[in-house]
Amino acid sequence: MKTILFNLTPAELQDFITRLGEPKFRAKQIEDWLNRGAPDFSVMKNIPEKLRQKLSEIAVTLPVKIVKKLESSDKQTTKFLLQLNDAEQIECVLMRTTYGNSVCVSSQAGCAMGCKFCASTLLGLKRNLTINEIYSQILVAQWELRSAVTSDKSIKANGDPNNFDVSHIVVMGTGEPLQNTENVIGFIEKANKDMGIGWRRITVSTCGVVPGIQDLIKWGRPINLAISLHAPTNDLRDTIMPINHKYKLEEVLENAFKFSDLHNRQLMIEYILLAKKNENGETVLYNCTQEQAEQLSKLISGKNCMVNLIPWNTVDERNFVSPSGNAVHRFQDILIKNGIHTRIRRERGQDIGSACGQLRLNNAKDNKCN
Ligand code: SF4
Repeated sequence: MKTILFNLTPAELQDFITRLGEPKFRAKQIEDWLNRGAPDFSVMKNIPEKLRQKLSEIAVTLPVKIVKKLESSDKQTTKFLLQLNDAEQIECVLMRTTYGNSVCVSSQAGCAMGCKFCASTLLGLKRNLTINEIYSQILVAQWELRSAVTSDKSIKANGDPNNFDVSHIVVMGTGEPLQNTENVIGFIEKANKDMGIGWRRITVSTCGVVPGIQDLIKWGRPINLAISLHAPTNDLRDTIMPINHKYKLEEVLENAFKFSDLHNRQLMIEYILLAKKNENGETVLYNCTQEQAEQLSKLISGKNCMVNLIPWNTVDERNFVSPSGNAVHRFQDILIKNGIHTRIRRERGQDIGSACGQLRLNNAKDNKCN
């Protein structure tokens, strides 16, 4: 198996390079390229071609490599399907927004949590990602930002026109971050230290793993926390999120607010709006009726939180449908009337299959057919 240079310490990298008969300073040059996210050795123009050739035979740069890259028609969203060294695949998404460049990273290959609306869990959990495997997803996005700007002048970074760096991170891709808490914390510490991304620009999203939230409380860094809620009652949540059998809504919210209050942050509440077709083919709202909007309001009334309403993105294997635009707005209006901060999350990259886990799932199906 080829050596992953990014996984080596500076001393190990120096040893690796000098054992090839090269001077020490080459190791530092290569290290700089690795920290910029160089996808392979061919881009390392200050390294002699013979050495680049030799390195490509025995090593790779990062622990992830791009298998597929899809760009939305408005060029604001880029989705990557990445392959790990053991051939497992993960996804990450780069979003160019008005407030900066945000990357949504995966924390596990697959997911064990079994949420009934999600594509990421359909193939089960394969394994946890290492710190470097999570961090490399940011490097891939960072490289993309810089090379897109150099190669296509029509692409502009949003917000600050001089900012072509990743500025925000959301740990909201494939996997449940708080089933891999130690590595997720290690990754966040590294992103803060090595890339200078502030705590308050980092968000971890959980489906409600209470011991993991308690670990974050003990850790004490003032990041943002998001809870995937998706239902206003335990009975309903039990039907779509198996985690709710273990940790009930009230316990999840109590711990989540404890975390956000501790850091004086607004708790993010993620709420996917789901509907179903009945036997007559009519669309019936599943978790977003007017009564459910009242129940949700009551549950979080007076709390410092923001409800992100996310109209469901189609996943072929799941039997939900998207509610109508009117139903979405009616649901939101009730929350607003009840004094709840809420917004409808703009659906990004619809044309590139933005539902979490969809790209990985489709690729696995394609590979099976071959
Ligand atoms: S929604 Fe999140 S926690 Fe639930 S199955 Fe999907 S990836 Fe896992």
